[in-house]
Amino acid sequence: MSTPTITLNNGVAIPQLGFGTYKLPAADTRDLVLRAFDAGYRHVDTAQMYRNERAVGEAVAASGLARDEVFVTSKLNNAFHAHDDALAAFDRTLDELRLDVVDLFLIHWPLPALDRYTEAWGALEEIYGSGRARAIGVSNFQPDHLQRVLDAGTVVPAVNQVEVHPWFANAEVRELDAAHGIVTEAWSPLGRGRVLDDPTITRIAAARSRTPAQVVLRWHVQNGHVVFPKSATPSRIVENARIFDFELSDADLASISALDRGARTGSHPDHENRTDR
Ligand code: NAD
Repeated sequence: MSTPTITLNNGVAIPQLGFGTYKLPAADTRDLVLRAFDAGYRHVDTAQMYRNERAVGEAVAASGLARDEVFVTSKLNNAFHAHDDALAAFDRTLDELRLDVVDLFLIHWPLPALDRYTEAWGALEEIYGSGRARAIGVSNFQPDHLQRVLDAGTVVPAVNQVEVHPWFANAEVRELDAAHGIVTEAWSPLGRGRVLDDPTITRIAAARSRTPAQVVLRWHVQNGHVVFPKSATPSRIVENARIFDFELSDADLASISALDRGARTGSHPDHENRTDR
């Protein structure tokens, strides 16, 4: 079953399901990405910070898939917000991925204490202007960070990749994204596995003869999010892709949305200021 796409604000189509690669075992990353392609994924989410762009690039090359059949995202690491550093880091990303053009390139974290993300955005706009990224966007941008980029920049970010899952709705960010035609990508869509034992989710899963992970991913899809669950377990890689042949009811969606308890699994973007990763 082919993955639906969402059209970004510049007309580029992004597959709504991708494969997350953060903390995949380094020695297995290439093979796991190839397994994901076999399972039907056509979108891979990597980052300079993950130190696995090379393995992702090897998998894309070995897959035999045409370049326009695979959507690859990477992200600018925190040490490179200065304009020239961002351009140089982007060149390294293309080398590592063995690509001439990346589909989506993001600023990974705003690092408000450093306060150079508008400078980094200027570099991404140049990269976009050169045609070497088909779309550009941001990640972990809170409303005030996003507003500054909108005010300072000339390109509206195509996406904002932020933490979202049933226990963390991140509603204010999602609403601002939507108001500007920015697609919300939900990182840690399964709450790193923590939401899967929630009784509401296990009840809906049992009623639909689906797994809790499939129910959570389906909730994201029906809310219009782009998702890229991560798993190093082959059976789960397949399981997580089988989410396009069933539907949750409005009541199911509302029950899952009501689970929000403001529980982040990752850093708060206002307090993430590390540049040494
Ligand atoms: P996730 O929500 O995808 O959870 C992954 C974990 O859930 C796995 O390690 C496994 O323990 C469990 N799991 C996965 N599939 C399962 C299944 N079918 N059944 C039971 N358990 C299952 O968490 P994540 O890896 O943090 O997020 C996904 C991707 O999002 C990352 O790999 C990365 O690409 C991206 N991400 C981006 C940022 C950012 O700052 N931009 C931060 C975190 C993650």
